[in-house]
Amino acid sequence: MSCLFCRVVSGELPAKKAYEDEALIAFHDINPQAPVHVLIVPRKHISTLNDVAADDEQLIGMMHRRAAAIARELGLAERGYRTVFNCNSEAGQTVFHIHLHLLGGRPMAWPPG
Ligand code: AMP
Ligand code: ZN
Repeated sequence: MSCLFCRVVSGELPAKKAYEDEALIAFHDINPQAPVHVLIVPRKHISTLNDVAADDEQLIGMMHRRAAAIARELGLAERGYRTVFNCNSEAGQTVFHIHLHLLGGRPMAWPPG
């Protein structure tokens, strides 16, 4: 299995998990860009946001609701946080298995770099 996040999903690669259920796993980014940097990842392999199908709409909603739940657990709900999907090269996507970044714990600049 060549996809990095499929290998995390299967347990072949270790990760510092923040949450898991039958549809999703969430784990701390190996190279955090903020004090909190968690990735919310569907167990199903979908390469990019461009590849999300109508059947995946519930899954995408679950990813966002889970990001909000983890943000609340980690004390970020009121102070604020950012969620990001990077899609393809100009956005800087490096792992081609969709993941929602949850970033927080410091002020975020806008526009993003
Ligand atoms: P993106 O650039 O949106 O594709 O984000 C990929 C993210 O995955 C980056 O922030 C990486 O630091 C992170 N990453 C890569 N490998 C691992 C890993 N084994 N465990 C946790 N995070 C990882
Ligand atoms: Zn995958």
